[in-house]
Amino acid sequence: MELLYDLSFNQLKRWLDEHGEPGYRTEQVFEWAYQHTVRSFDEMTNLPKDLRQRLAEQFAIGPLEPIAEQTDVDAHKMLLAMPGGGEVECVAMRMEGYTSACLSSQVGCAVGCCFCASTVGGCDRNLTAGEILLQLISLRAAEGRIRNVVFMGMGEAFHNYEAVCESIQRMTDNRAMGLSPRHIAVSTAGVVPMIHRFATDGPPVALAVSLGSANQETRDMLMPGVARWDLGDLMAACYAFSEARGGEPVTFAYVMLAGINDQYHDVDRLARLLAAQPHHLNLIPYNEVPGCPYEAPDEQTIARFYDRCREAGLNVSVRRSRGQSIEAACGQLRRSRST
Ligand code: SF4
Repeated sequence: MELLYDLSFNQLKRWLDEHGEPGYRTEQVFEWAYQHTVRSFDEMTNLPKDLRQRLAEQFAIGPLEPIAEQTDVDAHKMLLAMPGGGEVECVAMRMEGYTSACLSSQVGCAVGCCFCASTVGGCDRNLTAGEILLQLISLRAAEGRIRNVVFMGMGEAFHNYEAVCESIQRMTDNRAMGLSPRHIAVSTAGVVPMIHRFATDGPPVALAVSLGSANQETRDMLMPGVARWDLGDLMAACYAFSEARGGEPVTFAYVMLAGINDQYHDVDRLARLLAAQPHHLNLIPYNEVPGCPYEAPDEQTIARFYDRCREAGLNVSVRRSRGQSIEAACGQLRRSRST
């Protein structure tokens, strides 16, 4: 059965038209589907009964019941069985005054970052736009209003460019979810050609790039799936993005690994790399992943690294991941019921 969230406004309009329904029904169905958490077409009480029945015969709708879930004070992680096959995790993070959703774009990931649980087992398939939206709708059903969205769950968002952009289109469409593009960020490990494409034809949302290291060799070792592009090409693409977006900064996520990328000379490299680039540097102390050999630096090293970044003129902050106790933190999402 087809997922209703996979249909664009125009596709649904066409379907309704073919079934003899007036144009305004599309707005009605979209409003029910995206602005209310309905679990069946029967709840769409301003639609004629026979239309509700025909929609139910053709399309699936409503939040998914998680097959596993965990919560702590600041995060709610769900494992969802996707209609098209495979399981993905998504997380609602309770921030001060709002909730942010961290969504997956693929079942698994092919990039192979050494510090990440999502890539264990490789990539099975891309999610559809509807399956991405379904994660958000399922989190909203449990957590209430969600203001922010980040594509930092399982998968490399730019390996599934079309579906990610299509899902953002419906998230930001006022006839559907009506989220502000300013509250949405797409994260990539650094798929350079797609950053260029995103700069010119992507939706007006923020870009985050996972850096790993400002040293080419170390980055290639940590993130083998993007090693074919060197740091110079990556920075040229980021610069093109900022230029195309009126000087908008790129957020660079820097997972800190003890003894790998946490020394003063790493700061100096970062400072050289980011000197001409509008940026925000997010230092993320590594969250332990079972089976990965790395450790987070101690607090003193993190503090010294941060201070040195500031002295070097970098726009920097340390991000403490939410949901660490339930393995919902950055780099910890995976397809497992045991986490
Ligand atoms: S950090 Fe992102 S790109 Fe790298 S393996 Fe994990 S999910 Fe994939």
